Amino acid sequence: MKDYFVNCLKTNDLKGLVEIPKSDLHNHATRGGNIRAIRNNCDTLPKRVFCDLNAMQNWYEEHVKPYCIGKIGFENRIRAAFKQAFDDGITILSMSFGLGDSGFYDGDINAYINAIESIKLETAPSITFIPEISFMRTENIKPVEAEFEKIIEFDYFKSIDLFGDDRKSVENYKSIYRRAKEKGYILKAHVGEFGDAESVQRAVDVLELDQVQHGIAASKSKSVMKWLEKNQIQLNICPSSNIMLQRAESYKKHPIAELFYNGIPVTINSDDMIIFDQSVSQEYLNLYNHGSLSAEDLNIIREIGLKSCLDY
Ligand SMILES: [Zn+2]
Repeated sequence: MKDYFVNCLKTNDLKGLVEIPKSDLHNHATRGGNIRAIRNNCDTLPKRVFCDLNAMQNWYEEHVKPYCIGKIGFENRIRAAFKQAFDDGITILSMSFGLGDSGFYDGDINAYINAIESIKLETAPSITFIPEISFMRTENIKPVEAEFEKIIEFDYFKSIDLFGDDRKSVENYKSIYRRAKEKGYILKAHVGEFGDAESVQRAVDVLELDQVQHGIAASKSKSVMKWLEKNQIQLNICPSSNIMLQRAESYKKHPIAELFYNGIPVTINSDDMIIFDQSVSQEYLNLYNHGSLSAEDLNIIREIGLKSCLDY
């Protein structure tokens, strides 16, 4: 498979890359689909850059949300995300779901989980799926703790993530992450996208993270990179997302290469396909075509993703 993958990159063969097993470990379910599956004859592609997360959210509210109203719209977005992963040859998919979307099922978590599972079985039965529950950073942690206790009872989700402004402290999430650890969850959080290198090390340390969503700011500190390498903390990186949100200058100058060459396990992922419009296969090609990483190193990264969740 290695030779075929390397050859596909060198010959710019996107169709071939799609056939090769890959992981996507940083994928927000309701934003993971192809916009063309949501909007017929869509001619409105994203602006190439957003000045911040608010600008990105505004674009989403204007160009996606009106086409996905209510429970049916929610299920269409989830279906599009599973279909996108399946069509792109993703074999291991960790996809995150917000607890708020259980509101489409009147807060009935069992009905919410059943909907996710039946859409997965109908759309992408062969994919190894790691359901992930994600929480928005908030100061008021008590209701979140109670909600998480309810989630645990269903024994469905296998991974936990935290998103929102990653410059905020994660200290108040410690109890939830300890509980998730007890239950064998994969522990992840968005950090080091807008925040600094030290915030990555701090979040990993406080929450005992196994993997970091983004984490690219770590490249600004030799000591943080050394620490991540020593502890083999995996960074699930999304190059197009970082470029469009102006967290990286270009594919060529994207910090993924420096992080990889410093011995940190990295993976390549899609983040929000519906906004950034680049599949995982395209992300590999983008990095190769712009001279960021060699085809052989990109294959090592592909293998890191496939191996990293085998124990779960
Ligand atoms: Zn993300």
